[in-house]
Amino acid sequence: MTLTLDEFRERTKEFLADNAVPRNEPPVEWNEESLVAECRRFHGALADAGLGGITYPEEYGGLSLDKSYVEVFNQELSQYQAPLVPAAISHGMCLPVMNDFGTPEQRTRHQAAIIRCDEIWCQMFSEPGAGSDVASLATRAVRDGDEWVLNGQKVWTSGAQYCDYGLCVARTDPTQPKHRGLSMFIVDLSLPGVDIRPLRQINGSSHFNEVYLTDVSVGHDCLVGGEGEGWNVAVAMLMYERVAIGAGGTGAMAGRKGSKQLIREAQQRGRAGDPVAREALADLYIRERIQSFIGMRIRQAAESGRAPGPEGSIAKLNAAILSRQAADVAIELAGPSGQAWEAEDGDGGQWADAVISSPGMGIAGGTNEVQRNIIGERVLGLPKEPDPYKGQPWEAVPRS
Ligand SMILES: Cc1cc2nc3c(=O)[nH]c(=O)nc-3n(C[C@H](O)[C@H](O)[C@H](O)COP(=O)(O)OP(=O)(O)OC[C@H]3O[C@@H](n4cnc5c(N)ncnc54)[C@H](O)[C@@H]3O)c2cc1C
Repeated sequence: MTLTLDEFRERTKEFLADNAVPRNEPPVEWNEESLVAECRRFHGALADAGLGGITYPEEYGGLSLDKSYVEVFNQELSQYQAPLVPAAISHGMCLPVMNDFGTPEQRTRHQAAIIRCDEIWCQMFSEPGAGSDVASLATRAVRDGDEWVLNGQKVWTSGAQYCDYGLCVARTDPTQPKHRGLSMFIVDLSLPGVDIRPLRQINGSSHFNEVYLTDVSVGHDCLVGGEGEGWNVAVAMLMYERVAIGAGGTGAMAGRKGSKQLIREAQQRGRAGDPVAREALADLYIRERIQSFIGMRIRQAAESGRAPGPEGSIAKLNAAILSRQAADVAIELAGPSGQAWEAEDGDGGQWADAVISSPGMGIAGGTNEVQRNIIGERVLGLPKEPDPYKGQPWEAVPRS
């Protein structure tokens, strides 16, 4: 692929003009079904236009270009409303993990399909008894000839209701300490024994699910990264997740009102001279600037070929705090219309929705407390949390 950055920018501009709605036009009304369909169409067209999978190898459906092209693409994309959210985990986490850990056969089979959104993937880590301490998970995978048979329950699985595949971490050796006996599997969500049950959230949507696995048989060729290597693959995936949320590259922050829009809102509501509103907006602006510097640092590290490290936790923590702070400022500016609105009041419900949805950012991808632990241990060099069961076989550790 020999496109200069300028040629690439021109091609991106043309594509977006034909395939997306400018950000300054009224918001596109998508329901889940139309959003997913539009996401698949958009990414398929993007790949057909020679713009999909920018940094991934050509032989696996990408363009083999460097990260400066991603930067250009994102600059242009920021001017448009694009249906990216359903593929945020698929592209932000599953795709880089398959690129890093997939066998050549797995990559040939899936990578281009993920790029095009012919396949959308989800992340199957959390369980009712294993969230922050995900390494203690109990879903079992037992070898049976050329197959592995999976039994267990996952929870909070974002997007499973429309996804085609999941990357599922399961316990393959309970006699090993908890981090060691894990393996990562590709699970086709249409297989018999996979039961996906949506969970209803406080904001009215059903973004995530419980996924029950009952005698689900997957081939040995669905093992990613090798038997017993699941924790390494999972850690890489969590790093990609924190960077994706923190650096804002996958639409994870989409929909949040930033200080610019809120300043406009304050002006329209006659609050621009109010010292309380001004102070809150200034604080928000400062934290946004900090976030953009952290994002810059992460992108530069990635450009120089470094794998994402604990700076992903700094970015993710700040993004979660920022999201909540922005929602608080927005609801303060909205006044009573943030609590009660008419059905026909176009932007009425969005204020309340931002307030009840934003705390989720401080939980997804590891809670704020867990990010602080990681920063404490890996950045500040503080002692690790004590673990009385360290080194003991998983099956010998008591669980509730
Ligand atoms: C919007 C959203 C999307 C999600 N999507 C997915 C998904 O697609 N796939 C998936 O697998 N999971 C997903 N999750 C689940 C998410 O990863 C877990 O909710 C998260 O890791 C926390 O686990 P938990 O809910 O079991 O809480 P727990 O681990 O039970 O934590 C409960 C409380 O204890 C605190 N705590 C726990 N351990 C410590 C500690 N060592 N030190 C200090 N405090 C601690 C936590 O901070 C928290 O406040 C999603 C969650 C959300 C909110």
